[in-house]
Amino acid sequence: RFGTAAAFEQPITPSVRINYTQLLIDGKFVDSASGKTFPTLDPRTGEVIANVAEGDAEDINRAVSAARKAFDEGPWPKMSAYERSCVLLRFADLVEKHNDEIAALETWDNGKPYEQAAKAEVPMLTRLFRYYAGWADKIHGLTVPADGPYQVHTLHEPIGVAGQIIPWNFPLLMFAWKVGPALACGNTIVLKTAEQTPLTALYVAQLLHEAGLPPGVLNIVSGFGPTAGAALASHMDVDKIAFTGSTETGKIVQELAAKSNLKPCTLELGGKSPFIICEDADIDKAVELAHFALFFNQGQCCCAGSRTFVHERVYDEFIEKSRARAQRRTVGDPFQKGIEQGPQIDSEQFEKILKYIKSGVESNATLECGGDRLGSKGFYIQPTVFSNVQDDMLIAKDEIFGPVQSILKFKEIDDVIKRANATRYGLAAGVFTKNLDTANRLTRALRAGTIWVNCFDVFDAAIPFGGYKMSGIGREKGIYSLNNYLQVKAVVTALKNPAW
Ligand code: NAD
Repeated sequence: RFGTAAAFEQPITPSVRINYTQLLIDGKFVDSASGKTFPTLDPRTGEVIANVAEGDAEDINRAVSAARKAFDEGPWPKMSAYERSCVLLRFADLVEKHNDEIAALETWDNGKPYEQAAKAEVPMLTRLFRYYAGWADKIHGLTVPADGPYQVHTLHEPIGVAGQIIPWNFPLLMFAWKVGPALACGNTIVLKTAEQTPLTALYVAQLLHEAGLPPGVLNIVSGFGPTAGAALASHMDVDKIAFTGSTETGKIVQELAAKSNLKPCTLELGGKSPFIICEDADIDKAVELAHFALFFNQGQCCCAGSRTFVHERVYDEFIEKSRARAQRRTVGDPFQKGIEQGPQIDSEQFEKILKYIKSGVESNATLECGGDRLGSKGFYIQPTVFSNVQDDMLIAKDEIFGPVQSILKFKEIDDVIKRANATRYGLAAGVFTKNLDTANRLTRALRAGTIWVNCFDVFDAAIPFGGYKMSGIGREKGIYSLNNYLQVKAVVTALKNPAW
């Protein structure tokens, strides 16, 4: 079931051209100040797809100056909210028109199955922009009944220049979650994409300009974290920073933000999300959902259900069926039809995942299936299932970020609540049960930003997403994300005739 030998050795050539590899500053594609470039690689082969301009601190300065000018002089923040909304809607139409081309570029740069990029990720970008286009002209303040002879109201103003740093696992979705609400609120932006996946953000940014976005409102600097990313987080003229990535880097970003100009910081970080299968669950459905919760996107999801807790009464059946499901998973060239799993993003993640698999075996978890690489090229890994996983094993504690399912056993609900919460993370949790009381008890007791009951990975544009504990600060999507990009100004006016 693991694709065909040819699919690993002879990758399908994507039918999309790479038109944009430079930095986007002030509405123009330009080279980096240093003239340096870096290669972005095809995860199917490890070979170079394109060389991309490598931005560093100097380019961040140029991009921030352009964003500052576009904010201070307009027209974007001063345009009517309706006009801003129209730009976002036109952009969504253009993305829809180029859906398949954008999806192909995403698959090429990231390795995710083309069918998933074309049917889920790109349409979700479109949907999210339409959602925030709807908000643009519905953002307003309040009138406040204060004591004394005063008339008081609040203005909800854009925060200014937003710095945004995104990861490689969902390059377009992360673009949407960051750029959509920031633009709807009237901000200008400097976006630093992940060094592994710089291509699609540049492509869609071009479409945003075609839709009428003025120059300087969205600037994109491709480059590396410690150079471009750190320069953005510590920039004195950036008013807000939003970051998605690892908890380790999130701490650095927050520190840089605090040490520079104390800019507010929202963080979407790692997770080790529990997925709890109760004894009354329909086992076939639970197996399928737990499989999806972990293996979706090659296991590269911050909210992956990476600790599958299964009630002891159904544990053996669940293991057997989960192993069979993982063995049926189709792995291969992500451009091939019917493929569920492509390669991991790069050699670093690939090696890291294989090390975690080794650690699982060494700590005496039972390797039910998988455990090795696939093919001889690129970064493919066999769908791997471990049973008899104990809470203190590394594979039950760390974010593996790969196709490795860890299945644990539980007996009592009270006990599984404690164990599920015994983690430094708190991004998401899943619950599978037919019992309403059990579901209600778990949804209240689990300390995580999203609880999925009898479902998983539901990412509607209106549903807020974010973490408890070391999984992050703040919420993205929905109405909640608007607060990240707004300042509240109280206007207090003395009344001439208080008796009015
Ligand atoms: P990372 O956190 O290092 O990278 C995410 C983004 O931060 C990238 O754009 C990167 O260039 C930037 N960055 C890196 N160092 C920076 C710095 N010092 N200052 C500012 N920006 C910086 O993640 P990674 O190295 O790509 O992956 C490592 C691990 O992170 C993965 O194995 C996984 O566990 C986790 N991860 C989580 C998510 C998520 O969505 N929560 C996404 C990607 C990776």
